[in-house]
Amino acid sequence: MDKFDIAIIGAGPGGYTAAFEALRHGYKTVLIEEREIGGTCLNRGCIPTKTYMYASEAYLSARDSSDIGINAETVSVDMKKLLEYKNSVTEKISSSVESQLKRGGAQLIKGRAVISGAGRIHISDTDTEITADNIIIATGTEPTKIRFEGSDLDGVMDSDAMLSADNLPERLVIVGGGVIGMEFASIYSALGSSVTVIEALDKILANFDRDLSQNLKLILKKRGVDIHTSSMLKRIEKINENLICTYEEKGNIHTANADRVLIAIGRKPTASSLFTADYKNVSIDPKGYIITNDKFETTVPKIYAIGDITGRIQLAHAAEAEAINCINIIAGESTVCDLNTIPSCVYTDPEIASAGLNEQRAITEGIDYKVLKYAFHSNAKSVLTRQERSFVKILIDPVTETVLGAQMMCARATDMIGEFVTAVDNHLTVGDIKKCVRPHPTYNEAIWDLLRDL
Ligand SMILES: Cc1cc2nc3c(=O)[nH]c(=O)nc-3n(C[C@H](O)[C@H](O)[C@H](O)COP(=O)(O)OP(=O)(O)OC[C@H]3O[C@@H](n4cnc5c(N)ncnc54)[C@H](O)[C@@H]3O)c2cc1C
Repeated sequence: MDKFDIAIIGAGPGGYTAAFEALRHGYKTVLIEEREIGGTCLNRGCIPTKTYMYASEAYLSARDSSDIGINAETVSVDMKKLLEYKNSVTEKISSSVESQLKRGGAQLIKGRAVISGAGRIHISDTDTEITADNIIIATGTEPTKIRFEGSDLDGVMDSDAMLSADNLPERLVIVGGGVIGMEFASIYSALGSSVTVIEALDKILANFDRDLSQNLKLILKKRGVDIHTSSMLKRIEKINENLICTYEEKGNIHTANADRVLIAIGRKPTASSLFTADYKNVSIDPKGYIITNDKFETTVPKIYAIGDITGRIQLAHAAEAEAINCINIIAGESTVCDLNTIPSCVYTDPEIASAGLNEQRAITEGIDYKVLKYAFHSNAKSVLTRQERSFVKILIDPVTETVLGAQMMCARATDMIGEFVTAVDNHLTVGDIKKCVRPHPTYNEAIWDLLRDL
């Protein structure tokens, strides 16, 4: 029976980052994965959707640039080719991660891992068993499947299936106006689908700042996306090739017709079959997430959990940061990453990004704050690239002028938010970030303009 210092279950961004960090510390490391290296992020999440986002931007800029002298007469979308491109991107990154892991000395095992005791893992596909001093669970989540009338119909799919489809639906209904739903709405409407969004809550992107969600709704509505908030899907029926979605909006019954329906109502943990029947000592909360403390320790010594499976923040970079800290904790060293400010991004057009405190949370928690807001009307880069409704909003402490948080909606917001993560984590003041020179012309310059105007 092989024995390791650290065994990691799941090779998503949490698992493979833990493996790299463990190798860096000189640990004998094994990584067990039942599907592809890269997990949800690389194969069914971040990278596939951002590849489609990139393609949709390329399509729109070719199609809509005759007024600036760029004529492309026969611009069209070839979904089969786009799917091939997306697959080639994910395969390239996945095989690069795999070869780096192997070169670093990690042992990779393909199969389904089941924890059969403290320090013992059974790999069901090969009927082998390994032991490890420490086990890290990084098994992530999968799309939530709910049963309702019509949920099994052909054409009703989750995000995994959407990202494997090789044709573009003419009419797409998206159930769920969260991050995943709105990214698909932005991408597919840009590629040419007629998109309807049905969201149960009273706003899209419910966890984000109200200004961000309202402005995105206005922009997407202007582009023809039909968004219904406070609306509940009741059922889906299929008549001929038509999927008819019946939903209730503010007490009234309506229907929306589609060729495809994306159910994007959330994700569920994958911990239910992770333990043998006689070994269930690791505590799991009522929703199925693994319970951990702030050192990633589960209720069993030397079994840790990181990433989406803990139900904390379900983002790839959060899983990576947790992985790095977890290995350093196992090694008895200080943690490296500050987990207090995890930026959240939405890859719509325009992009949305948020870090630290937002107004709704400040009000709920009774935190004193002052808002600095700047619309990008006169930012040269935004004007020349024809951006719409862009803004940055910074929350500061009214007395010390320390930066508490920032929300942005503009081109490249997801790249620029890092500046505010640095500011919040290091308790920088407006004065600290104002004195640093930004290059011209850039979107980033807008931040400098805002601060200089104070
Ligand atoms: C459509 C979509 C878009 C997204 N976009 C973004 C984005 O832009 N930015 C961002 O930060 N996040 C994004 N996310 C979220 C991101 O993908 C997750 O937060 C991230 O993948 C979590 O990493 P993880 O390592 O915890 O788990 P995962 O990436 O889910 O990896 C878990 C792995 O464990 C494996 N596994 C499970 N059980 C077992 C077992 N018993 N034995 C062996 N292997 C097992 C699974 O096969 C999987 O490969 C997106 C998600 C989706 C669905």
